[in-house]
Amino acid sequence: MTRYRSVKGTRDLLPPETGVWAAVEETARRTFELYGYREIRTPVMETTELFVRSVGESTDIVGKEMYTFEDRKGRSLTLRPESTASVARAYVEHGLQSWQQPVKLFYVGPHFRYERPQRGRFRQFHQIGAELLGDDSPLADAELLLMLDRFLRALGFRELEVLLNTVGDQESRSAFRDALVSYLEPRRKELSEDSRRRLETNPLRILDSKSSGDQELLAEAPSLEEHLTPAAREHFETLREILDGRGLAYRIEPRLVRGLDYYTHTVFEIVSRDLGAQDALVGGGRYDDLVASLGGPEVPGIGFAIGEDRLIDVLPEGFRDEVIPPVPTLAVAVGEVDPTVVMELSEELRGAEIPCEVDLSSRSLGSSLRRADKAGVRIVLLLGEEELEEGTVAVKDLEEGTQVTVRREELIGRLGELG
Ligand code: AMP
Repeated sequence: MTRYRSVKGTRDLLPPETGVWAAVEETARRTFELYGYREIRTPVMETTELFVRSVGESTDIVGKEMYTFEDRKGRSLTLRPESTASVARAYVEHGLQSWQQPVKLFYVGPHFRYERPQRGRFRQFHQIGAELLGDDSPLADAELLLMLDRFLRALGFRELEVLLNTVGDQESRSAFRDALVSYLEPRRKELSEDSRRRLETNPLRILDSKSSGDQELLAEAPSLEEHLTPAAREHFETLREILDGRGLAYRIEPRLVRGLDYYTHTVFEIVSRDLGAQDALVGGGRYDDLVASLGGPEVPGIGFAIGEDRLIDVLPEGFRDEVIPPVPTLAVAVGEVDPTVVMELSEELRGAEIPCEVDLSSRSLGSSLRRADKAGVRIVLLLGEEELEEGTVAVKDLEEGTQVTVRREELIGRLGELG
């Protein structure tokens, strides 16, 4: 027999861990709704062309990480490696420019990248993200970062570091790209193989290089900062002033460019020391040209994506402790009582939103009580022949070690009092 296993880089999430995921997502929804965001659900597959156009041909994602396949009619489809492109596509497709601007959307769901699996890196991973479309002011950048900060605080995070930079507008970027290429071209031989390739395809990405030789070369290279246009500089300065005014701490990271082609102006990451090498929990930035590049109107945008798998990996204990699933009340048929009678009772309780389970496998009262105790059950309802005849239920409180007989019609009220 073949032993079936989940596909490499994917995993099952089991209870009680799924309860933690649900609570994290609920906290995200609650926080984002405070800022006027509403949920969008886009398909997990898109035409391949969408990601090639928006994320960029020369990026790692498009170059080597996409799950791309042909469907039965030979159309090239891709499992989404990220969602900003999908949200921008949906914005254009449904004409959301006719809605009140800005349009604020959040999403939660699985994404797919063909990467080497390791801690904090999966082939199916999950992102919680938000996108704000139709506002190009630095106030929008600031509000988005404040929302992100509020969410992470609600989960109990205190020590995370926000890394912030600007890649400027198209004009700043192309001026910088030219200067960088002119500087690196004569030193091409000293660059790592990856960076040599990037010199042709996507020179800005060289700033991201992990090679120490590359980083040494870059120490003397022209800086992005000195190539910013006055408008780009002002955008970034205003953002910083607002964040400073709100006391939101950040570190300027001049080499942070982020890998994707569509970023303009503000880019940021949030990192956690607890994650080791895969330390980025959140990535985001502004993308003022993306919607237009997909054939839509000139609509600016900014957004972020939180890596939910990584977030939960380093979740503060306090939040985890609070996610305690309710232990249901247990209803047991005693003696010769037909279990379907107990089932009827338990359906009544569920109708009143009291979690309840029936011990269907009950062999004896003793074994039922032992199992209940082990499962952490507090209240056991016993229905024997006597109770059935008198229209009562015996309510056993395992925590207090008490037992009282309650009339059937008073049961729900009494259980409500017990909490
Ligand atoms: P990116 O758009 O690549 O910056 O992704 C945003 C966030 O998603 C990252 O900061 C990570 O937390 C998370 N992420 C990206 N790729 C993976 C992956 N393969 N496995 C787990 N999390 C990921």
